[in-house]
Amino acid sequence: MKVVFALDLGGTNLRACLVDSEGNILWRKRTETPRASLEVLVDRVGFLLKECNQHNNCEIKAISIAAPAALNAEKGMILKAPNLPYLDGVKICEILEDSFKLPCFLENDANAAAIGEQAFGAAVGKEAFIMITIGTGVGGAIFVRNEIWRGLDGTAGEIGHICVEPLGVPCGCGSRGCLEQYASTSAVVRMTKEMRFKYPESRLHSRLVFSSKEVYEAAVGADELALKVFEKMGFYLGIGLASLINVLNPEAIVIGGGGSNAWDVFISHTREQIQKRAYNEPAERATLLKATLGDDAGVLGAARIAFEELF
Ligand SMILES: [Zn+2]
Repeated sequence: MKVVFALDLGGTNLRACLVDSEGNILWRKRTETPRASLEVLVDRVGFLLKECNQHNNCEIKAISIAAPAALNAEKGMILKAPNLPYLDGVKICEILEDSFKLPCFLENDANAAAIGEQAFGAAVGKEAFIMITIGTGVGGAIFVRNEIWRGLDGTAGEIGHICVEPLGVPCGCGSRGCLEQYASTSAVVRMTKEMRFKYPESRLHSRLVFSSKEVYEAAVGADELALKVFEKMGFYLGIGLASLINVLNPEAIVIGGGGSNAWDVFISHTREQIQKRAYNEPAERATLLKATLGDDAGVLGAARIAFEELF
C-alpha cells in the first residue's frame, strides 16, 4: 500500500498522520509544535516517523507538510512564518530529505486545506472555488481551473487581509480593519469583551477569560451579547465575501477552520450582506458550503499533493 507521512505544522499543534491515496488516515498523533528551534522540530519529526513506523508496516513514500507560512512550494522553502520565526528563509524540504531519505513536499496551510476539501471533502468536483479558514486568523485559498491561484510571487489568497472597515482595528499585517480582525475566533473573543458592558445580563458579562467556543455556546443558549457578536462577525464576513464574489465569480465558497463550527449563528448574516452587496448573478452562483474535513483538511491536502507529485 502506498502511504504518505503528512504533517500539519500549526502555530500551536503539530499533527502527524499516515494517509493512503484514498484519503484514509491510518495513524495519527498530535503534539505541541516545537517553538524553540529548527533542530528541535526536525528531531520531533524523526520521533513521530519512528513512532508511526512502530505501529504500521506500510512503506512511507514521502513526507508532506502544510505550514502556516508564506512559502515557495516549488523550492520547498519557507519565506516567512510569523508564528514560527525560526523557519524564516529555511529550505525545510531539503533538510527533511537529507535527514530522513524521503522526498518532501511543502504547501501553505490554507492552500493545503483547500486541496484537501477538493479531493475528499466539501468541494469535490468543484473547479473554481474560494476556501476561507476561520481560526485564530483568517486564511484563504483561491482555486481556479482546478489549481491553486498563487499569484506571481506565491502570495495570493490572503483573504483575511481584505479591508472591511477602513478606519478599523489595527492588524498584524500593518494595515487596519482587515477581515481577520472581525471574523476570526480571536476577533470573536475581542468583540465580546468590547461589547459586553452593554449587556449586563449576559453570562459572559463579567468573565475574565473565555474562548470563542464559549461565546458560541452562549449564542446557542440565546445569549443576547453572544448573538450580537456573531451577527457582527457574519456581517463583516459577508462584506468580504461579496467583494470576492463580484471579482472572481466562483461556483462555491467553502468555509472551514474551527470558527466554521459556529456556522448556524453567523451564516444568515453573511448571506444577507452578500445578497445586499454582490451582483445577483454571481451571488446566486456561489454556494456557501461548510467544510467537511475539520482539522484533517490540512494533512489530507498535504498528502494529496505528495500523491499527485509522486504518481
Ligand atoms: Zn491585515
